[in-house]
Amino acid sequence: MSLSFDHTTLPQRVVFASGGAARNIAAQVELLGAERILLIAGRTSSPLAETVALDVPVVARIDRVRQHVPIGHAEAATALAMDVAADAIVAIGGGSATGLAKIVAIRTGLPIVSVPTTFAGSEATDVWGLTEGGRKVTGADPLALPAVIVYDATLTAGLPTRLAIASGLNAVAHAVDAFWAPRADPVNRALGTEGLTALVAGLHGMRASADDLGARERTLYGAYLAAVAFASAGSGIHHKICHVLGGRFGLSHAEMHAVVLPHVAAFLVPAAPDAAARISAAFGGAPAHLALFRFSEQLDAPRSLRELGLREADLPEAARLALEAVPPSTPRPVSLADMRQLLTAAWAGTPTPEGRP
Ligand code: NAD
Repeated sequence: MSLSFDHTTLPQRVVFASGGAARNIAAQVELLGAERILLIAGRTSSPLAETVALDVPVVARIDRVRQHVPIGHAEAATALAMDVAADAIVAIGGGSATGLAKIVAIRTGLPIVSVPTTFAGSEATDVWGLTEGGRKVTGADPLALPAVIVYDATLTAGLPTRLAIASGLNAVAHAVDAFWAPRADPVNRALGTEGLTALVAGLHGMRASADDLGARERTLYGAYLAAVAFASAGSGIHHKICHVLGGRFGLSHAEMHAVVLPHVAAFLVPAAPDAAARISAAFGGAPAHLALFRFSEQLDAPRSLRELGLREADLPEAARLALEAVPPSTPRPVSLADMRQLLTAAWAGTPTPEGRP
C-alpha cells in the first residue's frame, strides 16, 4: 500500500522532570520574558501552586475553575487578565484550569505555561471548549495551544486514586479515538499507539501502588502522546458523544470518558482492523473488543453513566444530540437505534457484545 498523508505538528515546548516543577516553571516564564503572571489554579491545586509558583511574578490569581468552562468564568478571567495587564498565564491543575487559560489566551493573545496535575492532556492540544446555556461548543485555535508544558509526575500524587484512574482512562480515550478520527494519519496513529502502550503499563502500575512514581511518569508520558495524537487527528465519535454528555448533562469529564470508551470501541473495532490490531497489541494480544472492558474492571474504574448521575429519561435526548455530531470518518454507519443501544449499555454498565451497540 502506498504511503501518502498530510500531517501538521503543533509547535510547543515540553519539559518533563519529576520534582522539577518549581525550577522549570520559573525558567520557562523567564524565557518567555514574562513579568506579570496571571496564575490560574483551582482550589484543590492552589496549595500546590503556592509552592511551585513561588519564584514567579504573580500579579493576579484565579481559583474559580469549573469543568467545560462556563462562559461567565471565561469572561471574568479575561477581564481580570486585561485589568492587571498580565503578560503570560501559568495554569496549574487539571483540564479545567488549562481550559479556562485557553479561552483567556484566545481573547488576549497571552502565552500559557501549562502545569498539569491530572492526565487529561488538554495542555498538549489547541482544542478549546466553552459552555453556554447548557451546550458545550468546542473548536481549535493556535492561540489556545500552551507555549510550554511543564510536566512533573509528583504533582499528580494528590489526586484521589479513583480520579487518577478515570483521568488516565480519559487519556486512553484520546489515543484510541484518534485511530478513527477525521484526520487520522500514520504519524498520529504511531503517537497514539505508543501513548496507549505507556498508559496501559502506567495505569496498571498506579493501580498496584499509588506511590509508584515510575508508573505515574509512564502514565503522564502516555497522556501527553495520546493528547498530541488527538490534537492532530481531531475528535472521533467517542469525543463527540462525550462532549454532548458533558455539555448538556454536566457529567464529570474523566469518569464519563472512562465509562463510554469500551462501548464505542466494541462497536467500532470489527469495522476498524488497524485500530483493533493496535489496541490488541497494547493489551498484550487480548481481543480488542474485550480489552478495554477488562482494563476498566482491573482498574476498578467507574462503569456506568447511571452512577455518574445521568437519568435514564435523558437517554433519548443524549442519543439524538450525539448522533448529530457523529463524524463522517467513523468506520461504520451509526443509526439512532445504534446510538440509543450504545448509550443505554453505557448507562446501565453492561458490556457491549462485539460489533453491537
Ligand atoms: P479537572 O481539571 O476538573 O480536575 C478534576 C478534579 O481533580 C477536580 O476536582 C480538581 O480539583 C481535582 N484535582 C486536580 N488536580 C489535583 C491534584 N493535584 N490533587 C488533588 N485534586 C486535584 O478535570 P480534568 O479531567 O483534568 O479536566 C476536565 C476538563 O478538561 C473538561 O472541561 C474537559 O472538557 C477538558 N479537557 C479538554 C481537553 C482538550 O484537549 N481541550 C482534553 C481533556 C480534557
